[in-house]
Amino acid sequence: MTNQNGRNGSAASPTNGKQSALRVIPLGGLHEIGKNTCVFEYGDDLMMVDAGLAFPSDGMHGVNVVLPDTTYLRENQKRIRAMIVTHGHEDHIGGIPHHLKNFNIPVIYGPRLAMSLLQGKMEEAGVTDRTTIQTVQPRDVVTVGQSFKVEFIRNTHSIADSFSLAITTPVGVVVFTGDFKFDHTPVDGETFDIQRMAHYGEQGVLCMFSDSTNAELPGFTPPERAVFPNLDRHFANAEGRVIVTTFASSVHRVAMVLELAMKHGRKVGLLGRSMLNVIAKARELGYMRCPDELFVPIKQIRDLPDRETLLLMTGSQGEPLAALSRISRGEHPQVQVKTTDTIIFSASPIPGNTISVVNTIDRLMMLGAKVVYGKGEGIHVSGHGSQEDQKLMLALTRPKFFVPVHGEHRMLVAHSKTAQSMGIPSDNMLIIDNGDVVELTPDSIRRGEAVKAGIELLDASRNGIVDARVLKERQQLAEDGVITLLAVITTDGVMAAPPRVNLRGVVTTADPRKLSLWTEREIGWVLENRWGQLARNTGGKAPDVDWVGVQREIELGLQRRLRRELQVDPLIICLVQPAPAGTPAYKGRADAEPDNRPAPRARREVGRPVASGAASGQAVTAQPAAQPRPVAAAAAPVVAAAEHPIVEEPEPEGRIRRRRSAAVAG
Ligand SMILES: [Zn+2]
Ligand SMILES: [Zn+2]
Repeated sequence: MTNQNGRNGSAASPTNGKQSALRVIPLGGLHEIGKNTCVFEYGDDLMMVDAGLAFPSDGMHGVNVVLPDTTYLRENQKRIRAMIVTHGHEDHIGGIPHHLKNFNIPVIYGPRLAMSLLQGKMEEAGVTDRTTIQTVQPRDVVTVGQSFKVEFIRNTHSIADSFSLAITTPVGVVVFTGDFKFDHTPVDGETFDIQRMAHYGEQGVLCMFSDSTNAELPGFTPPERAVFPNLDRHFANAEGRVIVTTFASSVHRVAMVLELAMKHGRKVGLLGRSMLNVIAKARELGYMRCPDELFVPIKQIRDLPDRETLLLMTGSQGEPLAALSRISRGEHPQVQVKTTDTIIFSASPIPGNTISVVNTIDRLMMLGAKVVYGKGEGIHVSGHGSQEDQKLMLALTRPKFFVPVHGEHRMLVAHSKTAQSMGIPSDNMLIIDNGDVVELTPDSIRRGEAVKAGIELLDASRNGIVDARVLKERQQLAEDGVITLLAVITTDGVMAAPPRVNLRGVVTTADPRKLSLWTEREIGWVLENRWGQLARNTGGKAPDVDWVGVQREIELGLQRRLRRELQVDPLIICLVQPAPAGTPAYKGRADAEPDNRPAPRARREVGRPVASGAASGQAVTAQPAAQPRPVAAAAAPVVAAAEHPIVEEPEPEGRIRRRRSAAVAG
């Protein structure tokens, strides 16, 4: 096997000197369920496999979409030859329209249903001209660059038209299972191409990357058809309307619900954009067969008797804006819950959505509806294989090396144990994280130097990236509220009016007088101790004042005091209104009451040098050392604070953080 493809002679090649190894780099989908994104590299060729998104967790306020960090892809975009898509779930195609805004993907190969769904997303995002879409059929082989030949092998999963991949590379064949379970009686009759898997196993598979979602569950995952009789029973027993919620992309489940609607003589009203969209695409391509007359627009369905009505809608995950969630809050313009309704949750909550799902169920029950949910009802099965499915996959492919993917850490560990029980030595496996590089040669597997990985948060409604700072501010707003304060300060550094303090969403036991007093003190402290650094005398009439710096210092001072005194951490916004030099000073109340805070603090985070001699001459007379405090602080004479600026009371940061995570975990 030669390791040169003839184009890598130049020293400019980023992988120069490493051409003999295949590099596989998952940028998302590990230690999590979601945003599956994987890179295959050999020589100068880079091939992407899937590009999904994840949904935000609690605390990611106003974030609609979570994407993997794409720094690596943007930096290497010239080498991207193609993308391969395994199936049409959001955690595999949802990121593509966003990526196309940032870098080029010359061609995307994938199954018809996935490509049809992707096409719609790309049209919405206005990026249809950025790539070429090529649909594939089972057993099609596509060539990518000089290094990869990819065969699409039909598998079975909760969405129709799903594939595993056999990727022939210069170092050997890699099997990338994609999402799968072994369903021998699939709803659409498209069976798993087990023969083709076995063919590759027979020829020799160098490495397998396999779906770990249900690695903790023993046995086989039941076939999708298993839910049919249970749904049937609930339909038969329903007194009034039947309302079903599931993932729109669970094409087989939706197909069965429609089949049951026909059987029980119920017309179907669809709610939720993705439900309408996926059903339209799936019917158009022949993955669902049902007559047009089955569907009735939601506005007209109210004219039908309840016993002839079925509503199929989004909201199975308790998403706040989805149809069922709005109905449960009485906020839907067309549909109100009736006490005769039977509402069926034909999906299980994705980890992280459990609370919003149970809240939705509670609200629906309180409105008097019969709600059918939970494992015991047999109305949901997973689309991912359990341990025995995973063993069957290992048995068919017999890979030399093994990397569990698509799962949280404990799932990856459980899957590796399953593989060990099948005789794969632990030295031949890697448990990796997003950004880790798997380097494969014909006789070795090793972890290479990791590339940049992480998350990009998208505020889709505003089309912007939410960076860590914005997210922190939103968390502060949501959890501790906001304080705005207005300070009037003259250009020669004098407070000219009492500060105006406004609280929104701040819970505090402190009375407002105390808060304005503290605010005055912080302003006073900044003017007395920091003015020398913030205002430069340029020789003109008025000094050149760094007003942003003044605001920032006041905000920081007040923030520290509130953390210390009240254990709250609101967002603080200080506005400074400059007044002309010579405006009479506001005397304030600060002198009237003793201040019991410790000596002035270090301001290292401001990024400026700490005061040297300039401020030390100004006595801080308003701060008698009245209260007991840490020895170091007490020992430091207040007037010399500027020379001993490192005296700092520990922030109650740990407590605040813990409180946050407890709130999230609960
Ligand atoms: Zn999937
Ligand atoms: Zn998936």
